[in-house]
Amino acid sequence: MSDKCILWFRKDFRLDDNPALLEASKHTEIIPIFIFDRNLEEYNSIGEASYWWLENSLISLNKDLNNKLSILEGNSLEIIINLIKEEKAKYIYWNRCYEPDRIDADTLIKKEIRKLNVITKSFNSSLLWEPWNIKNKSGNFYKVFTPFFKKGCLESVEPRKPLNKPKNLFFLKPHKRNYNYQFKYQHKKHKWYLKFVKIWNISETAARAKFDNFLNNGARDYSEGRNFPYKNSVSKISAYLHWGQISPFRLWYEAKRKMLGKHLEIFLSELGWREFSYHLLYHYPNINKQNLKRQFDKLDWNVDEQLLSKWKHGKTGFPIVDAGMRELWETGYMHNRLRMITASFLVKNLLIHWKEGEKWFWNCLLDADLANNSASWQWVAGTGSDAAPFFRIFNPITQAQKFDKDALYIRKYIPEIAKLPNKLIFTPWLADRKDLEDANITLGIDYPHPIIDYPESRKRALDAFKKISN
Ligand SMILES: Cc1cc2nc3c(=O)[nH]c(=O)nc-3n(C[C@H](O)[C@H](O)[C@H](O)COP(=O)(O)OP(=O)(O)OC[C@H]3O[C@@H](n4cnc5c(N)ncnc54)[C@H](O)[C@@H]3O)c2cc1C
Repeated sequence: MSDKCILWFRKDFRLDDNPALLEASKHTEIIPIFIFDRNLEEYNSIGEASYWWLENSLISLNKDLNNKLSILEGNSLEIIINLIKEEKAKYIYWNRCYEPDRIDADTLIKKEIRKLNVITKSFNSSLLWEPWNIKNKSGNFYKVFTPFFKKGCLESVEPRKPLNKPKNLFFLKPHKRNYNYQFKYQHKKHKWYLKFVKIWNISETAARAKFDNFLNNGARDYSEGRNFPYKNSVSKISAYLHWGQISPFRLWYEAKRKMLGKHLEIFLSELGWREFSYHLLYHYPNINKQNLKRQFDKLDWNVDEQLLSKWKHGKTGFPIVDAGMRELWETGYMHNRLRMITASFLVKNLLIHWKEGEKWFWNCLLDADLANNSASWQWVAGTGSDAAPFFRIFNPITQAQKFDKDALYIRKYIPEIAKLPNKLIFTPWLADRKDLEDANITLGIDYPHPIIDYPESRKRALDAFKKISN
């Protein structure tokens, strides 16, 4: 009897701590595949930055699999059924994904495969706790982070220990070469995201190196330093984690080995926030489409393409907001504090629907993640579960003064105002003619006037909120 096993890579592009691979290693021949399936939302609406990361991930994984990865495009079910028949494979394994349409598709695929007498198994490789296992005392799912994490997660079973890469793997390619995927973004010229190649090294080895570097440096100052965007105190591991170049189990136990006290506690709770986002996505599959607090459906959002475009391109005239948006555009990453400040500015000061911001982040973030992005946007907007209240509006001036007090981050991303002194750089519109001349700036030409009056915009947001609260 054939001992051939198909190993379906999805968002687990690694050999370390990969339970599906470990199971596959019990068989003598493994056919590793990846399927780009446009029937799934995550591929159909994939952002440009994500596309770039995905293609590079596949190239890197293929190398790690001795050039034996089959990269395919088409309907997953059809491809898998054909492959099983052509190769006479008897087993197929994969690691689970949690996007709602993926869950439906996987359920159907399992059902159809079993009709062929093929053994199929799926594993958890990307969440510390399965979203359906964490329940409160009444047997319901949690809607508030702190009890979810402290009681639901930490008081239940400990996450399993990471699994080592199996030895003696034998990979092979299918005999027939159908459904081949054509690489797209590798060959495009002049695309905005091609500059990322100078910043990001995409591979499993690079992910480990990045996290080790964090553990030896930023981690020592994490609890405080993580708030300051110009410091190197965060891990920048999110994209690797999203695509599975590193596992959360590895992060959890490596952090426990090397981090101490409140730094460790806060880092683990940030991983907990990621778990919470997935918990919410599982229990609210519409979280990217619908306000969780339905009263916000009545809010009179502002539809203004011009303002939206200025926000996207870092031209609001509020330096900290613009610096954040430009970091995103330049690097495919944005520091968490800036994600909160820029999101709050869009939703509250411009009163533009969070879905517009979510869409832009989705296109530009290398770590764009359905669960984290939607839950975080709803958190900032005040429309989500356990969200910041709508009346909490991040003040872009005081936030900058507090978290970028020497304006190092602002000067990095907005060089045109770099010569303004610290007392004016957060509010260039308050500079007089002499200050502007000394700094070589003409407001409105070199750098925009503010696109809104801050106090007025704040009042307008609070009034709009009051209307739907009555
Ligand atoms: C509006 C908005 C949109 C966001 N969109 C995304 C997204 O698409 N993808 C994404 O991975 N994160 C998103 N986040 C959460 C957070 O900003 C990033 O996870 C974090 O900045 C990644 O940087 P890091 O790896 O250096 O984080 P670190 O501080 O080093 O944290 C380690 C890991 O913990 C998790 N984590 C940290 N903070 C959060 C958080 N607030 N919520 C959930 N998980 C967290 C991430 O997986 C992160 O990689 C968003 C936040 C906001 C406010």
